[in-house]
Amino acid sequence: METKKTRCLIIGSGPAGYTAAIYASRANLQPLLYEGLQPGGQLTQTTEVENFPGYPSGVEGFQLMDDLRNQASKFGTDIQSGIITKTDLSVRPFKATADDGTEIIADTIIISTGATAKYLGLEDEKKYNGKGVSACATCDGFFYRKKVVAVVGGGDTACEESLYLAGLAQKVYLIVRKPYLRATKIMQQRVLDNPKIELLFEHNTLGLYGDEKVEGAHLIQRKGETDEKAYDLPIDGFFLAIGHKPNSDLFKPWVETDQNGYILTQGARPLTNVEGVFAAGDVADPIYRQATTAAGSGCKAAIECERYLSEHNL
Ligand code: NDP
Repeated sequence: METKKTRCLIIGSGPAGYTAAIYASRANLQPLLYEGLQPGGQLTQTTEVENFPGYPSGVEGFQLMDDLRNQASKFGTDIQSGIITKTDLSVRPFKATADDGTEIIADTIIISTGATAKYLGLEDEKKYNGKGVSACATCDGFFYRKKVVAVVGGGDTACEESLYLAGLAQKVYLIVRKPYLRATKIMQQRVLDNPKIELLFEHNTLGLYGDEKVEGAHLIQRKGETDEKAYDLPIDGFFLAIGHKPNSDLFKPWVETDQNGYILTQGARPLTNVEGVFAAGDVADPIYRQATTAAGSGCKAAIECERYLSEHNL
């Protein structure tokens, strides 16, 4: 079994992980980065990214991540395609194990494992992924200007996404499974006050239809009740906003998280409660969840990491 030693282990390869790697390698920390289950992270699931600074003509999500990867590699990051399956943050240096059995001994760790958008679990969500199905209004809303879209969910994210889309689309349906919204009152009010948003309470989605791309959703109203009604709703875009799951389970025995699993950091600094362990990107960000903010926090984590190593003569 191979053992690798590193001053800086970066777990995850979204914009946060790669940016941390660029900064850490330029600071001569010779970081070791494990790409994880989805190399490149959530952005590889989107088509075009138009809001990442520096790309006035937009860039394919996959291309953007490849550029970041190449930049990190150019400065000397050791990029491994495996998954970290186990960590032990109770010892120093920290220990981690990769899926091929490699043991990693690390002086510091930057956690940038991201978050995974929740889906309803319908086959059609996979079938139309990138063809009308999205879990990020800020990323993909622009493609639905003057079109008709539906958002699923009843929390703050669903309300926020609906309001964002209402600024672009001709009409937004908000599909809510309960007879009420769970979102904060102020968000609810904003949604109710917006003439472009129509609330569909007590509705569930059974499937989607369309030849090449989404052309509508099969809905059911008041499922299981005597007045149950199934019907088709013509739409161009179907947005999931039923929550995200931060990928923090691996660190939970040691690293403090909020009730939703987001890693808690100290104010504007990406420090966790475990000294020498930093968190960057969506795994620690329940609010913004943007590639640009993730990249920024990855940069901060690498700078903090460098400081920690030099303060501790590591
Ligand atoms: P929430 O967990 O708050 O809400 C998820 C919503 O999705 C609920 O309405 C839930 O319905 C619905 N849902 C879940 N599963 C399904 C399903 N299978 N079918 C249909 N509907 C489903 O997640 P959010 O992402 O909205 O928010 C997460 C946290 O982030 C919250 O604390 C929120 O306040 C915060 N946040 C804050 C923002 C801000 O301050 N600007 C913006 C966005 C989020 P049900 O109610 O029936 O369970």
